[in-house]
Amino acid sequence: MIEKVIAGNWKMNMDHVEGAELARKLSELIDDKNLKCRVIIFPPFTTIPSVIQTISTNRIEIGAQDLYFEDSGAFTGEVSGKMLKSLGCKYVLVGHSERRHVIGEGAEILRKKLEAALRNGLTPVYCVGEKLDEREAGKAFDVVTRQVLEGIDGLGAEEVKRIIIAYEPVWAIGTGRTATPDDAGKMHSKIREVVTGNVSEDVARSVPILYGGSVKPSNAGELLAVEDVDGVLVGGASLDAEAFFKIIESVH
Ligand code: PEP
Repeated sequence: MIEKVIAGNWKMNMDHVEGAELARKLSELIDDKNLKCRVIIFPPFTTIPSVIQTISTNRIEIGAQDLYFEDSGAFTGEVSGKMLKSLGCKYVLVGHSERRHVIGEGAEILRKKLEAALRNGLTPVYCVGEKLDEREAGKAFDVVTRQVLEGIDGLGAEEVKRIIIAYEPVWAIGTGRTATPDDAGKMHSKIREVVTGNVSEDVARSVPILYGGSVKPSNAGELLAVEDVDGVLVGGASLDAEAFFKIIESVH
């Protein structure tokens, strides 16, 4: 049985002072409560140190929103997995839809980033998801299958076991539109089928598959109740400590 994961992507919000305050509030709410899930937050790079210093519970784990695929060198402006690991990060997002569709990262670069994360002992949260026109054209399953395979094909079973997959339909991110629990469930079971076919059923059963796209306290419970939805990746609602904590409390 996979432990549920509640993850918060702060995107380009919260400077190091604001981020410390949000981390303090969240720590206070979580305190030493008996949580039924893993909690991960993804602050911006420059906010990570102050968040790590402020967190007063070991129940909150830290990830970064991106990494570069080389470990060091002449890559001005980039941050490596090695640097993130030494800072105390355990996780890193790879292929978030804003990286794919706003920044323009393609399959080849994302694959190298996945490998860099694994090489540096970070758990990649590999994001996949179709755009609205792709869903309307009936291509959602094909697009997501292709993206999953671009990420895992050729990796060893032990490496795939260390990945978290996040299904985030692009049309649901930051739009207030959410996939229905039924749509999310169908896509998650498709993803598990793809991992089974490419690696093994054993590995597929151990890889957490999160849903993301306008998750909030009012819809988290029904999404988390769906078979194959092993957690949620939350954007906007993770910027409010009370709202994010309500989502954490939706795990039963
Ligand atoms: C996200 O950033 O991954 C996300 C799902 O954002 P939101 O919850 O705001 O749609």
